[in-house]
Amino acid sequence: MSRLRFAPSPTGLVHVGNLRTALYNYLLSQKDENTMVLRIEDTDEERSTRAFEEGLITDLKWAGIDWHEGPDKGGQYAPYRQSERKETYTEYAQKLINSGNAYYCFCSKDMEDSENKDKTGYSGKCRTLDIKESIARVNKGEEATIRFKIPENQTVRFKDIVRKKVVFDSNLLSDPIIVRSSGIPAYNFSVVVDDHLMAIDIVIRGEDHLSNTARQVLIYIALGVNIPKFAHLSMVMGADNTKLSKRHGSVSVSEFKKNGYLSEALFNYLALLGWSAKNNKEVFTREELI
Ligand code: GLU
Repeated sequence: MSRLRFAPSPTGLVHVGNLRTALYNYLLSQKDENTMVLRIEDTDEERSTRAFEEGLITDLKWAGIDWHEGPDKGGQYAPYRQSERKETYTEYAQKLINSGNAYYCFCSKDMEDSENKDKTGYSGKCRTLDIKESIARVNKGEEATIRFKIPENQTVRFKDIVRKKVVFDSNLLSDPIIVRSSGIPAYNFSVVVDDHLMAIDIVIRGEDHLSNTARQVLIYIALGVNIPKFAHLSMVMGADNTKLSKRHGSVSVSEFKKNGYLSEALFNYLALLGWSAKNNKEVFTREELI
């Protein structure tokens, strides 16, 4: 029995690349009494909307994807919307500060914004500040983010079901922000807290998250909790070998729906990207794919 999850951000229309990730989670969740969770990662308050969340649920259902637990269904690990779990993240961030694995960072808001945009690394300036002094500054009202302290000179290893052994040098990872100055958690942190608390044991997602996984593994270790298994899926590409985007034509599930594609055809097509059956069979029933 495994617990899987699909964790989209409701910031736009569902892309066929996301649908493929959802589909693999779904197929695996339909056997061995496995369970699939739909978790809405709506911590980006400016870009996330309820309308996108509703569209997402409609498009997934149209495509034949269903789940056992989610914001529309409830479940024993509710709430399933990250915006409704803020106290939990604060509590876990506090644990990391108390254990010396996280620190307050006073580098300006501009830095926070540019890091988010360019993904450039952080210099580590506030890493060595005395924590008692930092707490006093925060209590006086100074704005601060919370950063995770990436341990130096470590080899981060994790097993990936697709890629087998994956290894990262911790010195190449800069300290990620885990809680923004607004108090809102950042992806690499909320995802670890939730995958842990929702008892997820297999994380299937796109390989664009591979370097995030290295950071997340270090956060799991710092929290002293179990690390799930990972499966990073290759990206869906256009004919020119670049990541599928609007330039290539239709990319959102709703466009395929509008253009008259049958959901069974889209499901079958996406399920077969990246591999082929030995006998060159190209049409499978849902049961066969499961
Ligand atoms: N919200 C993230 C995304 O949509 C989830 C990634 C993950 O599955 O961890 O990319």
